[in-house]
Amino acid sequence: MPCITLRRELTKIEEAQVCARGEFDVWAPREVAGLVALALCAARKAAGRWISSGECLARIAAEFVETWRLFDDERNTLHKQILERDDGLCQVPGCSRAADHAHHIVFRSAGGTDDHWNLVSLCAAHHLHCVHMGWIRVTGRAPDGLRWELGLGARA
Ligand SMILES: [Zn+2]
Ligand SMILES: [Zn+2]
Repeated sequence: MPCITLRRELTKIEEAQVCARGEFDVWAPREVAGLVALALCAARKAAGRWISSGECLARIAAEFVETWRLFDDERNTLHKQILERDDGLCQVPGCSRAADHAHHIVFRSAGGTDDHWNLVSLCAAHHLHCVHMGWIRVTGRAPDGLRWELGLGARA
């Protein structure tokens, strides 16, 4: 049997076994594996209960899309419009840093839209480490009808 045919046959058998077991192995450099383990831990902590690795990965992917969706496309003028409306500044009360991100007040994953009232400018630190970690909550309508709750516990 030629080498390539053998390889394909082996892959087919491997894939069938993977499907039957409902799990798969990933080979990764040690740093990447460590990072994945930390991300799984963080996802379980955020969920407040034990969830399967698969559910963790799904939540991590959803969070990633939520966070970076408006950031990944330089042609996306919506991001710029929101930052302009907010004078390029983070809108968290007391923060004077430049805004890096436009955040969805009602999360996209909860049905939030791209309407201007649903978007608010935040610095990266407040966006990633506070709002999405549950320490700060913002509700209402931007730019004049926002309600900030600061110093909450981490998201349950
Ligand atoms: Zn956000
Ligand atoms: Zn800020």
